[in-house]
Amino acid sequence: MKIDKILEYQKRDFEVIKLERQLLSSEDRKVYRAMIDVVNVAQNNSNALEKEASNLKKEYDNLLKTYNENLKNCNAMARKDLNNVTEADLQNLGKVSEVLIKNLSVIEKKLFNIAERINVCLNQFDATKKKYSEARAKYNDHKQKYDKLASEINPKIEQAKQELQKLESGIDEVLLAKYKQRRADKIFPIYVPLTDKACGGCRMEIPSASLEKLKKDGFLECEHCRRIIYFDEKNN
Ligand SMILES: [Zn+2]
Repeated sequence: MKIDKILEYQKRDFEVIKLERQLLSSEDRKVYRAMIDVVNVAQNNSNALEKEASNLKKEYDNLLKTYNENLKNCNAMARKDLNNVTEADLQNLGKVSEVLIKNLSVIEKKLFNIAERINVCLNQFDATKKKYSEARAKYNDHKQKYDKLASEINPKIEQAKQELQKLESGIDEVLLAKYKQRRADKIFPIYVPLTDKACGGCRMEIPSASLEKLKKDGFLECEHCRRIIYFDEKNN
């Protein structure tokens, strides 16, 4: 079994993997992707605050309406001609005005409380807006840097992949298919030498019956890590 060609293929493919890793591990990529999350959180916060502000506004308007109604009743009572009322009416008026004044004071407190909550809400909104624009600027900066790096590395990856493709025609189809299957499963390296009667990938010892098969066929699939173990006479 000709293993040399697939090993050469694997070696070249490793160059592609290294380039891809360089892009994936780029600090600029990490930052700009993190900023997407920050922007999304800020946007959600801002939506929630907007909703809260609108609810507070409604609450405020309703209270203000009640306050004005009470105030109107108070004023109406103050304008009553006290010469034309009976003693009983007077007592009743006293009670009613007491209740109205108490209501007004409660409503005033509530209005004050809502005004404070609206203030807090506005401050939070400002802070969120600031966070949003900071994250946006950071995103733009790092995305630009990442794009520059990608524009340098992607053509190299493309070229290396084209060279790999050219190598494919010279490789045993079965070996290549096994390779591609594992590469898609993110296993790497895929072809590993037998090392001290063990898998060169996961170090799992190979039973002697399988060792015979390996020597006969030239390769063996590791039952543990699924890598393809090949027999290298130089090492064994
Ligand atoms: Zn293994």
